[in-house]
Amino acid sequence: MLLGPPGAGKGTQAQVIAGRLGVPAISTGDIFRANVSGQTELGKQAKSYMDAGDLVPDEITVAMVKDRLAETDAKGGFLLDGFPRTIAQGEQLRGSLQELGHHLDCVLELVVDEDELVRRLSGRRMLVDGEWVQRDDDKPETVRHRLEVYREQTAPLSGFYASEGLLAQIDAIGSIEEVTARAMAALERPGQSDDS
Ligand code: AMP
Repeated sequence: MLLGPPGAGKGTQAQVIAGRLGVPAISTGDIFRANVSGQTELGKQAKSYMDAGDLVPDEITVAMVKDRLAETDAKGGFLLDGFPRTIAQGEQLRGSLQELGHHLDCVLELVVDEDELVRRLSGRRMLVDGEWVQRDDDKPETVRHRLEVYREQTAPLSGFYASEGLLAQIDAIGSIEEVTARAMAALERPGQSDDS
């Protein structure tokens, strides 16, 4: 599982690392965005929270992840990106994994200081239908709120998983390749931190 604040590079690293491990990357943010674009019922429920930079309520998110983890491609393992984001989600995940006969091997925390996050998020653009666009929730006022939400609701998961001996922290500043190399090394030794 990848843990880290918005802008730490979780999405990018999730794609690369999942490719190396040969497992699907499961990103709750991507699933929500696909549902918003497709104007599904789930998308309609999630949109106002996402636009405000708030977390989508746990009951919606947890049920969605439970269904996704039960799909065939996740049978041989998976990489979670952006879930869990609250201690309650972490506890629910533990139950879902038990039911499915899975367990977490490693929680990889991407560490980036807040000034760098603000710089990255305000400059970030996504390619949509051939055009570079800014995500609504990357606007400066929403970015600040998302970082606050991270500090208050998600950062405590770091201690939660450290106490289970599953946490590996890596410095996520550097090129994509450098960060991937640190991530792959850390996956070999969960429970220890990167001192570089
Ligand atoms: P992300 O792409 O991971 O930054 O997610 C974008 C937005 O989707 C977040 O700001 C939340 O509104 C929502 N979201 C993604 N994952 C979760 C989650 N695990 N719990 C609640 N909301 C989430």
